[in-house]
Amino acid sequence: MDAINPATGEQIESYDEHTPEEVETVLSQAEAAFERWRTRPRRERETLLKSAGAVLRENARDYAQTMTREMGKPLAQAEAEVEKCAWACDHYAEHASAYLQPESHPSPPGTTVKTVYEPLGPVLAVMPWNFPFWQVFRFAAPSLTAGNVGLLKHASNVPGCALAIEEVFREAGYPEGVFQSLLVSSDRVADVLADDRLVAATLTGSDRAGRAIASTAGEHLKKTVLELGGSDPFVVLEDADVEAAATTGAWARNQNGGQSCIAAKRFIVVDAVYDAFVDRLLAAVDSLAVGDPMDPDTDVGPQARPDLVEALHEQVQASVDAGATVATGGEPLDRDGAYYPPTVLTDVPEGCPVDTEEVFGPVAPVYRVPDETAAVQKANDTQFGLGASLWTADLERGDRLAGDLEAGCVHVNELVKSDPRIPFGGIKRSGYGRELGEDGIKEFVNRKTVWLASEPDTGTPAVE
Ligand code: NAP
Repeated sequence: MDAINPATGEQIESYDEHTPEEVETVLSQAEAAFERWRTRPRRERETLLKSAGAVLRENARDYAQTMTREMGKPLAQAEAEVEKCAWACDHYAEHASAYLQPESHPSPPGTTVKTVYEPLGPVLAVMPWNFPFWQVFRFAAPSLTAGNVGLLKHASNVPGCALAIEEVFREAGYPEGVFQSLLVSSDRVADVLADDRLVAATLTGSDRAGRAIASTAGEHLKKTVLELGGSDPFVVLEDADVEAAATTGAWARNQNGGQSCIAAKRFIVVDAVYDAFVDRLLAAVDSLAVGDPMDPDTDVGPQARPDLVEALHEQVQASVDAGATVATGGEPLDRDGAYYPPTVLTDVPEGCPVDTEEVFGPVAPVYRVPDETAAVQKANDTQFGLGASLWTADLERGDRLAGDLEAGCVHVNELVKSDPRIPFGGIKRSGYGRELGEDGIKEFVNRKTVWLASEPDTGTPAVE
């Protein structure tokens, strides 16, 4: 596996894939580790997680540089990502026990009935390169603390990140085998997942990869959580603060080089404020500094790989051929590295690629709609359902319209974001299951019901 710096095209390092024998060792270590880890008092697991957070903070600059070198994220954004991972560690270190507290249920006289939350076993985590630390920690922090062990199959372009994350847990004092990275290509994932020692899988990635994981897991009846792509609407109504919406919108589309599942991907603006919004959006987009991701002044770095620039540009070209107008950007930058400029497209026709597909780069299609009803209709006119951002001065209106938007989350007057305290996930082709918050830690647990009867049962008939 070659790690290539997308800002320069230079090879950083080459890593050998794990051989089948090495994969076998990883799996048997995971199995053995789980037997010891599951019985460790949860308090100890929380303390270790707190230490993982401390390790992240101590080495934040190093980890951020590894991310930036491998996938091109501007360094300041990479440092913020490390801090967010540490926050997730702090959060579950403090709240895991409360989230997993046994729950009592109403029950017949003389009985006590409760649900207890027990770990499942080794879980496979297949992760993408776009937030190469955060995606892993938002799975690992809760799941390991619940008592599972984790195997990470990271994206093939970020092997250095995969190994650095393994090192975080080692340095924090986690026992061997509790968190391991598997350096394997995606065509070997099905065989790994089929192994009886793995009990479940989580995937963050494209819907194509989601289908592959879900079908293998289905064949072997294993639980999955899928966090897939999105085409989030960013809806601006006539009573919105247009200046704030445009400034935030430019950022919501372009942070992380536009390569975020919850980036604003379709701007839907009512006619009354359309011209004012587009003017301000263009000003905000044109003010973004594109350049070397190691430079602290850079807002937008390169795309993560040259082939992604090609695919993105094909989507733009086909949309322009179908009738869209390039308001700014629209051509790969003529410089070394995988650079695509922040781009705004107007007059976007229905059915063109930027309208119907996920656009995973700094390209903002803007739509003019007559009113609120048309805005909601356009917002929902997508196969995806991850997040949505809605701008209005009237919070009651925002709350009402949030009910009409088909998405896993709706943010009114702010960009879509995740937070360790709040459940996160999608509907439709954006996947299923939830990460983060209490829901996140309860995805990979056995919700075991325990009945305690004070008097022995003498054979009361029961249905099922
Ligand atoms: P991707 O191509 O689907 O890859 C994601 C991971 O899946 C990688 O580890 C990849 O390994 C693996 N993979 C790919 N095809 C597979 C297959 N057939 N079987 C098993 N594993 C497979 O996605 P990406 O380009 O890295 O990431 C971008 C996508 O992720 C976007 O669609 C984005 O919206 C989505 N995403 C979603 C969320 C969310 O929370 N919902 C968050 C971030 C990103 P290789 O690298 O070896 O191919």
